[in-house]
Amino acid sequence: SEMLGLSGIEKTYNAGKPSEVQVLRGVDLSVARGEIVGLIAPSGAGKSTLLHIAGLLDVPDGGRVTIAGEDMTGLGDRRRTGVRRAGVGFIYQFHHLLPEFTALDNVALPQLANAAPQAEAEARALALLDKVGVAPRAGHRPAALSGGEQQRVAFCRALANRPGLLLADEPTGNLDPETSDRVFDTLMGLAREEGLSALIATHNLDLAARMDRVLRLEAGRIVPV
Ligand code: ADP
Ligand code: ADP
Repeated sequence: SEMLGLSGIEKTYNAGKPSEVQVLRGVDLSVARGEIVGLIAPSGAGKSTLLHIAGLLDVPDGGRVTIAGEDMTGLGDRRRTGVRRAGVGFIYQFHHLLPEFTALDNVALPQLANAAPQAEAEARALALLDKVGVAPRAGHRPAALSGGEQQRVAFCRALANRPGLLLADEPTGNLDPETSDRVFDTLMGLAREEGLSALIATHNLDLAARMDRVLRLEAGRIVPV
């Protein structure tokens, strides 16, 4: 069955102004449950806009978004926020871990915001950090962690609330190639273990080739790879 469905998604910025830019021109894509799909997009192709719309952070001008079979069109802000908090995990290139909090707390906080009991949230956080090999660093703040470690913590944070869908924008983009490969393998292993569906944007064709399927976004449309 389908976890994420986009059909006929259109988005224009600054409509009617000289600066008008038609970013998405009818995007159709589908991610099945448990499937990990790569998204290749040249800079400016509309990748961020697409990920924001898929994650209910932005609303398209036209088309339909469905998550786990539920049509998101016309849902109110509160319901959208509810689906996003409970059902979608995000990871971005610049991970924005909270600098004042330890790795453990960075992973526990989204669960506390979702009304999980503290002991449970911390246990889950530690288990996730352990799976990606960062448990020994759980008590450190982000500044004391390497780039690879920070990225792994960010991934754990995205998975903290057991989302059905992971949306990632260049999840290893700011790492050197060797670290990037290592982190990516860890992430894929964990995604499979957690039965996650994912749409992962990357410029790295080698990484994309290791996903279940690859899509290419060009000039606002999905084109053959
Ligand atoms: P990508 O992530 O593929 O680089 P984006 O989705 O960020 O692409 O942006 C696609 C195009 O839309 C770019 O030309 C960008 O300048 C423009 N754009 C993005 N966000 C806005 C915005 N809020 N207002 C106006 N133009 C925007
Ligand atoms: P990785 O290959 O995982 O990216 P590095 O080679 O950058 O790691 O770092 C090796 C070790 O040094 C790691 O265990 C990391 O936690 C530690 N380390 C890196 N930067 C710092 C720092 N600023 N403070 C404390 N420990 C650090």
